[in-house]
Amino acid sequence: MRLYNNLINEIKNSLIDAKVLNKSNKSLNTSDRNSVIFLSDTAFELGGNNKPCVSSLAVTSDMAFSNTVYLQGPDLNEIKADSPFGKFVFVQVEDFENEQDTFNKIKELEALRYHLSVDGFMTRASALNMREQIRVSKNAIKSGVSFTEYGNTLLQEYLNFTNVKSAEIYFVTDFNDFEKLNSIAKKISQTTSALNHIFDNVMFDCSTCNLKEICDEVDGLKELHLKNTKK
Ligand code: SF4
Repeated sequence: MRLYNNLINEIKNSLIDAKVLNKSNKSLNTSDRNSVIFLSDTAFELGGNNKPCVSSLAVTSDMAFSNTVYLQGPDLNEIKADSPFGKFVFVQVEDFENEQDTFNKIKELEALRYHLSVDGFMTRASALNMREQIRVSKNAIKSGVSFTEYGNTLLQEYLNFTNVKSAEIYFVTDFNDFEKLNSIAKKISQTTSALNHIFDNVMFDCSTCNLKEICDEVDGLKELHLKNTKK
């Protein structure tokens, strides 16, 4: 699966100045039910208060990642109020013979943000507008938790999936060009919508399809739909 490769490269090039966070063996506690953090217990919300906010996940089979977490902007201990927030997750999966298997893996990986709960963090995610806001508790800040522990805990969760070979996570708390990253994330989301369409066995008719723009831009989508139609 190479469909997202150009978009992944565009994001990585836009975040070239992001710093590498240390690998951390200290994992935060997780559960599969999103915890509730009330406003009175919240230090701040990443992406809260209508700040610029975007989250995206892109999958490939032929780009290897460094199993590293990156951060552009202030770390958690430097943030004093609701702040802008971006999160970009890149995952390398096995090269499945059948593209449908890759698509199923994408859906599995995407679902993680809706059910994984990390101690001290409460996620409010919306696939519709690509926002992922995260409340950070006062207790988490008091105990000195940083993006290093949070990011490495998330990274490990992605690496624990079967058929996942490598991954990277980028956090952004200070955007150089939010609109640019938001527009790339939108294309990633539209590419996934097109895959949804293709594997839903919707008729191959680009003239009436609302995904034509993205299929014109991303190499391989039309070929994949055509191939799938012939099966
Ligand atoms: S290939 Fe054509 S019909 Fe298929 S999703 Fe893209 S625009 Fe729609």
